[in-house]
Amino acid sequence: MRIVVLAGGIGGARFLLGLRAAVPGADITVIGNTGDDVTLFGLRVCPDLDTVMYTLGGGIHPQQGWGRADERFTVRDELLEYGAKPQWFTLGDRDLATHIVRTQMLHAGQPLSVVTAALCERWQPGVQLLPMSDDTVETHVLIEDPDAVAGSKLIHFQQYWVGLQARPTALEIRAVGIENAKPAPGVLDAIAAADVILFPPSNPVVSVGTILAVPGVKEAVMAAAAPVVGLSPIIGGRPVRGMADKVLTAIGVETTATAVALHYGRELLDGWLVDVVDAEDAEPVRAAGIRCLAVPLMMSSVAATAEMAEAALRLADEVKR
Ligand code: GDP
Ligand code: CA
Repeated sequence: MRIVVLAGGIGGARFLLGLRAAVPGADITVIGNTGDDVTLFGLRVCPDLDTVMYTLGGGIHPQQGWGRADERFTVRDELLEYGAKPQWFTLGDRDLATHIVRTQMLHAGQPLSVVTAALCERWQPGVQLLPMSDDTVETHVLIEDPDAVAGSKLIHFQQYWVGLQARPTALEIRAVGIENAKPAPGVLDAIAAADVILFPPSNPVVSVGTILAVPGVKEAVMAAAAPVVGLSPIIGGRPVRGMADKVLTAIGVETTATAVALHYGRELLDGWLVDVVDAEDAEPVRAAGIRCLAVPLMMSSVAATAEMAEAALRLADEVKR
């Protein structure tokens, strides 16, 4: 079975752990979000690709969900002594090695897809991990800023999310560079050849939304023969973790499992899973022609997540076009 998953960071990575456990023999291609990528201290950092790679490769900090396990912070502490900025993004020593290798390879002229494959040789994630694009796309957020002359200012997504903890009101989300980005080699082929396409419980705006916004990707998903099934990242009207509500509000979508499904719409989704607590709100999803079931969607363990993955695959089987 060929499965394609459009993944962000923590939600995507945790789901993939369950999926891999549910269907050990499957051929899984992950199309990873690179809109969160940022250059810090001259190093190219790809948080979502790394979260997937470390999680599936057994190197993730398990409680935190991002960064390396058993991390140390010698370099960060030395940077602080210099007053080097920014200080809001934590880079551990082990993690820095990844960014150094990546940056070296990029500077030598290798595309990000080749670099990612090389990093994965170490981590053996058991899936094919592809960046959505080899071209630079960086998500920026237009925030309300009373101090700015124009009343608003555009900042990098990481500064908004990590630096400011998504506190300022987000007025607009812009994927800078996306118009000219091409899907990375293998992305469109994987979508076309898939037996199933899954949207894991990843951020619908700045993870799955950004991947779909790469010219050609949304069109390929719509044209694919495979059924498309998504799992809601919103449970009981709230993100399970993080601040997805802030970016949903910015694009005018309510923070509910139903609104997210309707935002993707029938043109993309054949099936949608909501959590059992949202079972009674699923009617508008069904009315829109999207098959919708309620199952437990808390990724509390790999076993619980594997059951979610199985439910998604069963639903995909039911809605096969
Ligand atoms: P990020 O790049 O690290 O922000 O990660 P993603 O975009 O992949 O996923 C973030 C989303 O995962 C958030 O909107 C959370 O609500 C969602 N999420 C996290 N844990 C769970 C869980 O256990 N169940 C569900 N359904 N969603 C989750
Ligand atoms: Ca992310």
